[in-house]
Amino acid sequence: MSKELAKSARKRFGQNFLIDGRVIDAILASINASASDAVVEIGPGHGAITEGLYASQCDLTLIELDRDLVPGLLASFVSKSPERCRLLNEDVLKVDFTELGGPLRIVGNLPYNISTPLLFKLLELGNQIQDIHVMLQKEVVNRIAAAPGESAYGRLGVMIQATAHVEPLIDVPPESFAPPPKVDSGVIRIIPDANKRALIESTDALTQVVRQAFSQRRKTLRNNLKDVVSLDEFEALGINPQDRPERLSVETYVELGNYLGRREGKA
Ligand code: SAM
Repeated sequence: MSKELAKSARKRFGQNFLIDGRVIDAILASINASASDAVVEIGPGHGAITEGLYASQCDLTLIELDRDLVPGLLASFVSKSPERCRLLNEDVLKVDFTELGGPLRIVGNLPYNISTPLLFKLLELGNQIQDIHVMLQKEVVNRIAAAPGESAYGRLGVMIQATAHVEPLIDVPPESFAPPPKVDSGVIRIIPDANKRALIESTDALTQVVRQAFSQRRKTLRNNLKDVVSLDEFEALGINPQDRPERLSVETYVELGNYLGRREGKA
């Protein structure tokens, strides 16, 4: 079966199908779906994870872009339980999630090329998303979960941790897929947090200052933010201008974004 899957995989859709039963079981155990959950699976493919989600009796929305995979998904899941199972043959980046109700539990072994824009799209939905369990490149999992001072800490980690809790769950080697990807993968749990979100006065201001602060990692905050924050302002905010961008905590970036948003009248 895995040889057939490898042959049918399409590169442009980022298709690497899970074939490792232990990894599939571990993913399903960490999601622990139940009949009262509304689950959205992104990129179900041949149904490796879908099977277990379907068996939990949850309400299940499948979003799959490759129309060649649609007949199999319809036959195995949707036509058997149309009252709680549906399929959208669409690009997930174009789906209007506000029409899917909620709170939603998001699951996906994602095509890696769309994972970052997709996570930002989902986190913008705030409370509509209960939690997210996704397979990503291990390197991206590390960046999302990195703490201040770590080399992987940067824009992605700050922006996601500013609105959500993150928890790396499972490391997955290339052999767990057909065809095997060139990189290691990992599953991460992301739980949006309304309290964290409420502390951000201007997402635009935060996005902008984080981008600029990390524009040159090896330079100081003073250098990267010289057109934006004066030395007096650094002092008033309790930030050492000689620090490198990776020294600042997520909370401090949020405070800095709030201050700049207020100063520019964006908040
Ligand atoms: N979930 C399956 C598994 O674990 O074996 C398949 C995972 S494969 C890495 C990614 C899946 O996402 C493929 O089925 C692919 O066709 C689908 N896909 C790719 N781009 C997509 C998009 N923009 N919107 C929805 N599905 C997409």
